[in-house]
Amino acid sequence: MVGIVIVSHSHLIAEGVAELAREMGGPDVRLETAGGLDMPDHPIGTDAVLVMEAIDRAWSEDGVLVLMDLGSAVLSAEMALDLIPEERGSKVLLCEAPIVEGAVAAAVTAKLGAPLDHVAREARGGLAGKIAHLGDAGDEEPPVPSAAPAGDGASIRVTVTAGHGLHARPAARLVQTASSFDARVTIRDLTNGRGPADAASLNAVAMLGTTQGHEIEIAAVGPGAPAALAAIRALAERNFDDRPEPEPPEAQRAAPAIPSPDGPGIVRGRPASPGIAIGPARRFRTPDLPIPEGSGPIDVEIASFEAALDHVRDEIARQRALVAGRAGADEAEIFDAHLLMLRDDALLAPTKRAIADDDISAAAAWHEVIERAAQAWDGLDDEYLRARAADLRSVGRQVLAHLLDVPVPRPSLEAPGVVIASDLSPADTVGLDPTIALGIATAAGGPTSHAAVLARSSGIPAVVGAGDALLAIAEGTTVVVDGTAGVIHVDPDESLLAELTAVRDERAVALRDAQASALEPAITIDGTTIEVAANIGSPADAVRSVAAGADGVGLFRTEFLFMGRSAMPDAREQEAAYRETAEALGGRPLLIRTLDAGADKPLPYLDQPPEPNPFLGVRGIRLGLERPELLLTQLRAILRVAADHPLRVMFPMVATVDELLAANELLEGAGERPPTLEVGVMIEVPSAAVLADRLAEHADFFSIGTNDLTQYTMAADRGNVRVSGLADAVHPAVLRSIRMTVDAANARGRWVGVCGELAGDTDATELLLGLGVSELSMGAPSIALVKRQVRTVDLAHARALADEALSCATSAEVRELLRSARIG
Ligand code: PEP
Ligand code: MG
Repeated sequence: MVGIVIVSHSHLIAEGVAELAREMGGPDVRLETAGGLDMPDHPIGTDAVLVMEAIDRAWSEDGVLVLMDLGSAVLSAEMALDLIPEERGSKVLLCEAPIVEGAVAAAVTAKLGAPLDHVAREARGGLAGKIAHLGDAGDEEPPVPSAAPAGDGASIRVTVTAGHGLHARPAARLVQTASSFDARVTIRDLTNGRGPADAASLNAVAMLGTTQGHEIEIAAVGPGAPAALAAIRALAERNFDDRPEPEPPEAQRAAPAIPSPDGPGIVRGRPASPGIAIGPARRFRTPDLPIPEGSGPIDVEIASFEAALDHVRDEIARQRALVAGRAGADEAEIFDAHLLMLRDDALLAPTKRAIADDDISAAAAWHEVIERAAQAWDGLDDEYLRARAADLRSVGRQVLAHLLDVPVPRPSLEAPGVVIASDLSPADTVGLDPTIALGIATAAGGPTSHAAVLARSSGIPAVVGAGDALLAIAEGTTVVVDGTAGVIHVDPDESLLAELTAVRDERAVALRDAQASALEPAITIDGTTIEVAANIGSPADAVRSVAAGADGVGLFRTEFLFMGRSAMPDAREQEAAYRETAEALGGRPLLIRTLDAGADKPLPYLDQPPEPNPFLGVRGIRLGLERPELLLTQLRAILRVAADHPLRVMFPMVATVDELLAANELLEGAGERPPTLEVGVMIEVPSAAVLADRLAEHADFFSIGTNDLTQYTMAADRGNVRVSGLADAVHPAVLRSIRMTVDAANARGRWVGVCGELAGDTDATELLLGLGVSELSMGAPSIALVKRQVRTVDLAHARALADEALSCATSAEVRELLRSARIG
């Protein structure tokens, strides 16, 4: 008897389907399941080894039929096939039949002793009964009031009411619905005369250019035609499952943190990186990938095309799950449209034809097909639909990059100007050249988001959280980004432009003034030397930092070194980068923070499973301990350089003493520890501040990450502008944590630095020194100004100021206190 294996992402689904199939086929059917993962925290998923084991259990010389649900279930089943001996593998059939109906039909047929191909055929036909039933019902009550005959089929007419017409999401729903019946469905747009288009092709449907108010005719031929038309009519009545634009909630409309346009010519946001930038508005463009000449044998090209499609489908499915976890299923739906593009025969078939007929490479064929399709979309009348060409090109690029075995190219600026974007990720920002990206203005984001942190380190003036009004600014319009005030001036008149230019130049002069003494040490009035160091993300930053007057590096965010690549650098490559950085510092201390990937800094190649709340998930040391091979590799590289240079190593996101002990143990195992190497802990999780006395037993120093310490203390996402009012690092609750940390450290003779953005805020310099901090680390452009500020501080006065700040109730009171201290 043929064996059957049910593969599902969910253990419960797999068991449920098996139960139903056994009920129909009888208890002695050889039926096994591979459902979900054997991980209590991540039960949903599929695992090739579990599938292989299920095939083993279901094994029969008559063969095994494997039924899968979607996405990675298929991949895991394919992988399982690779894992089993070849002679057995030839008798295992992966079947595309629907999992529930297929399992029932297969169980019944297998029980009769039918051969494997017959069982598979029955499984594939498993939907027939349902279709026949629904088709009959449709006949009794015809779903097609305005039906026009089309061959032996039928048709219906509907008016499209969805806000953006048949754009990606409604088109995707239409294609999904049409494809689920045994019928050939076509669509004509009666308003613009386009079509008929194959309803199984997202590309073809979108190409109709159907916008709101258009009448369309849907025709279907085949046994499932009535049911297909009924389902499509129901879908149209549901507005193609399009959602109306959500009204902002009351709280959001009233929230003071939401900046609003200030009249013509002014858009307000949040100051994120000080300074004034003037230039034409620019949007990112993604560079083209060079298509190499020549091609391999046709079958090899086709196989690599299929593999690239599989890889990207998997990647998009992963991103979908990630976004669904973070932002909800609705936000993730756009990825469904991307997945449909990768299954769209209107794109795949011509690519394969071109490979076979024109003797060109898969990369060249795919590029041509995507470009042709995208250009056709570009030519559509509707602006929203035109914009979907960008989706197509983006998906196309991902496949192309995989075919060419290069990283997916990142968007960049083609000419100098001010970057206007809805939001920037750290990966977008990390490579920005300040001579090209003169300023940054984003619609979303908060001032301590990692993109803002990077802008500050590069000295690029930035305003974030400026709202959607920003996105209406046309390319090339002159804009002025005032990153100190948090204002964007759009197309200012001549006199305003001259005024703002003068302010920019004045500030530049003040900065140059401060820079004149930036290379001197920062010594307070009472004679205490404060180490003023730089936060960096690359060896090149270290060179710039020394020129800016840094006494060392107080935070090397190593994860930025690992971005924009397709694999993790090995120990040798890391060692080279750390050594180059240490050499650039010429004997100044270099503090290397171990990888803080995760949350808003995912590294795609680490393949972290999606998390519902990544900022509270596996990031920093948690990832390092979960994947010790990553941390060990990094620690080995650090130890090799520490033998020759003054290094400090620091663990991020430590929340417990156990984590520190485990990290220290890995360090022990990574090689010989030079006596000069200092080992520290980042204090950025409230539990670490509270437990600082116990952590100090096992660490040489602390560095306070005020960005995360504030985010977690105030429960205010650092990337969310709507709560950025709450996330002020001088809030007394944060200041008390800093005081607690310093007291605990000093009691054991440990020093404490600050490497969060507060360290670069000259308004807070005296306060931090008064709290007992002895090292400040910041983006290089702030170093000169902070050093100048340190030289004005008297520590006795600073301590009194800190005591007063600690007794304040709100961050506004603290800011007011700091303002009057500055004036007085
Ligand atoms: C911090 O959290 O303050 C910090 C310096 O680390 P990062 O900004 O890289 O999270
Ligand atoms: Mg942090």
